[in-house]
Amino acid sequence: MGGCTSKPNDKYETSKEVADLKAQVDQLQRALAVAKAGQSGFPPAYAPSANYGQAPPYGNAYNNAYPNVGGPNAYGGGVGYGPPAGAAAGAAAGAAAGATGGVSSGSGGVVETLFFPDAKLPCRNMNKPGGCRRPHCEYAHEPTSLTRFLAHLGSARSSLDICVFTITNDDISDVVLSLHRRGVRVRIITDNDQAATQGSDIVKFVQAGILVRRDKTPAHMHHKFALIDGRLLLNGSFNWTRQAVTGNNENVTVLADPQLIRSFQAQFNKLWEQFK
Ligand SMILES: [Zn+2]
Repeated sequence: MGGCTSKPNDKYETSKEVADLKAQVDQLQRALAVAKAGQSGFPPAYAPSANYGQAPPYGNAYNNAYPNVGGPNAYGGGVGYGPPAGAAAGAAAGAAAGATGGVSSGSGGVVETLFFPDAKLPCRNMNKPGGCRRPHCEYAHEPTSLTRFLAHLGSARSSLDICVFTITNDDISDVVLSLHRRGVRVRIITDNDQAATQGSDIVKFVQAGILVRRDKTPAHMHHKFALIDGRLLLNGSFNWTRQAVTGNNENVTVLADPQLIRSFQAQFNKLWEQFK
């Protein structure tokens, strides 16, 4: 069963979702085909990534593309799920990327795709100096799809626009809150029904002073995407819930494609006005 908690047996909802996903896949394939053909006018850096379709490439160059991710206090709020020490080449690429404030050269329109479920939730003790000392800790001490996801989110430096159906995962909301405290402009669009659900982190966000808007219709605001600094797009089936992390089959694709980012940003802005 789903982290997507839309009503079961709602066939219209399901088929609509499938259609939406198909449309997204079509759009991505078209964008990639255009980039491959070299007709897009995109700089070479946006050619399809060699990492596309592979398992999360822990320890590769991209893991180190954000110099501030990976050490203690990587997210400015004591949340430090960082990638492990990467290859030296990766560190060098990361340093170069940090100098220009961008994604490391060589990463393509598709940066990586993360698949869920993870076997375990990440161990929060790994954020502390010395790591986890519990002898039989049941949480993950190695990178997971969620820690990769958190690393991307935590890389935000100026803005984070979130458009996600359900947000109840504390590991994710802690990163969002710490970014807000750090001065990153965070805006959240979510579903009105889900925002009222027990355990929703929306209440915490509002109390912290984060700008939140909800759809006001019986239909669902069913998107699951986020835009980071107008530089990265995270998009897929993944709801920001524990069930989606350790239970469901889910995907998130991380994209640095300017055309797609413009498209999603326009949609975010449209919904932001609509749900005023
Ligand atoms: Zn542990």
